[in-house]
Amino acid sequence: MTTKKFIKKVFFIEILQGLALTLKHMFSPAVTRQYPYEKREAAAGFRGLHALVRDKETGAAKCVGCGLCAAMCPSQCIHIYTIEGEDHKKVVDRYEIDVLRCVFCAFCVEACPFGAISLTEHYEYSDYAKDAFYMTKEKLLLTWDKYMAGEKGEEYFKKFWRPMSEDFIQKIQNAKFMPTCRHKGG
Ligand code: SF4
Ligand code: SF4
Repeated sequence: MTTKKFIKKVFFIEILQGLALTLKHMFSPAVTRQYPYEKREAAAGFRGLHALVRDKETGAAKCVGCGLCAAMCPSQCIHIYTIEGEDHKKVVDRYEIDVLRCVFCAFCVEACPFGAISLTEHYEYSDYAKDAFYMTKEKLLLTWDKYMAGEKGEEYFKKFWRPMSEDFIQKIQNAKFMPTCRHKGG
């Protein structure tokens, strides 16, 4: 044992250092928040409850029922049911999310090329019944109206989840994938 270690042991230096730290914090203001009376604002881009985005002009859901979000969802908790509408157009009849299975990874938001689904700042939705966590299209649209409508929703997509379709815009002089240049028989 070195002299330094010996002195530390004999004079309880480390214990005294620990006690000094405790004493120091005893007189500093508490940092604990008295939730739910004191709440902290959710950080922008927070991954809370899902919402289906409404089209600004028509007020209808932006979702076209392509199913990309459901395909990307690692929990397989998104269920989409489409029907044939007027002029043989695909119409989203039901869009449902089993929130109890969701891991809030936001892959669904990333995968959507239309910016039609978002995660909101809302996280206080505890309940006693399982049904309350099965989100239907109507419930998801209401969540959008309540928490993300207007500038807030626009800002969310601009800052955090810019629709991926923008990534496919060809930039001048950028290298481009040319299928005809591939090696034959390679
Ligand atoms: S956040 Fe992740 S787990 Fe939840 S619905 Fe979206 S893709 Fe699925
Ligand atoms: S990826 Fe977007 S548009 Fe396609 S089904 Fe999901 S939410 Fe709807």
